[in-house]
Amino acid sequence: MSVLEIRDLHVSVGEGDDAKEILRGVDLTVRSGETHAIMGPNGSGKSTLAYSIAGHPKYTITGGTVTLDGEDVLAMTVDERARAGLFLAMQYPVEVPGVSVSNFLRTAATAIKGEAPKLRTWVKDVKIEMAGLEMDSAFAERNVNEGFSGGEKKRHEILQMRLLKPKVAILDETDSGLDVDALRVVSEGVNRTRAEGDVGVLLITHYTRILRYIQPDFVHVFVAGRVVDEGGPELAAKLEDEGYAAYVKDSNEQA
Ligand code: ADP
Ligand code: MG
Ligand code: MG
Repeated sequence: MSVLEIRDLHVSVGEGDDAKEILRGVDLTVRSGETHAIMGPNGSGKSTLAYSIAGHPKYTITGGTVTLDGEDVLAMTVDERARAGLFLAMQYPVEVPGVSVSNFLRTAATAIKGEAPKLRTWVKDVKIEMAGLEMDSAFAERNVNEGFSGGEKKRHEILQMRLLKPKVAILDETDSGLDVDALRVVSEGVNRTRAEGDVGVLLITHYTRILRYIQPDFVHVFVAGRVVDEGGPELAAKLEDEGYAAYVKDSNEQA
């Protein structure tokens, strides 16, 4: 049983006079076995939240706390965060020239577990998971993200999550740029992980589309750097019908 707790998180980007507060007091708790959707308009700070939890150097934490099972995540290096069980699928994954998918995944697994997984079981596990994501086995020998299509990048992210078995997975815009078939395959991968039990999932999205495939337990509406409304899956349906206009208007009046 794990719990990620975000308390009154404030985050800025930029330096000096250009510093701009993006997150303005985020509160969120994600427990094992729970799937939370964070939904909000473009520019509301959703990716900033994901990057801040992951430890991206561009984002300055100016207040609040993030803990995983009581441990101070903000005091950890990026590697330590991964070892502690946090997984972040990047919205814009980077290319890693000259490193095959297969080697990349094994290196990541070794770093996280503290020892290299046994080669035979590892190769088998990778094969099984790739088949589950309807990926061609030749994919394992390609260089990471080099010439990957949008769908291949997303499948690769979910493949990483499947193999690394995090405590809490943060998936940022996993649905963007996917056709319906890829969306189904990727969603099924996430749902398999959920069905196996212990993971907490933070699913960040602008669109409600993916929530037809991945039913969240909780929905948080995110506007102008904070959570402005919360509910169950029915809230996603309401957002699909009505959009974010009412929330954005409220938030402008407060500002
Ligand atoms: P979302 O993911 O909800 O679309 P982002 O977190 O990407 O929102 O961005 C929130 C706001 O922060 C935007 O106004 C964006 O321009 C700004 N922002 C995000 N990252 C940076 C950065 N590295 N430098 C400057 N501004 C940034
Ligand atoms: Mg505050
Ligand atoms: Mg974003």
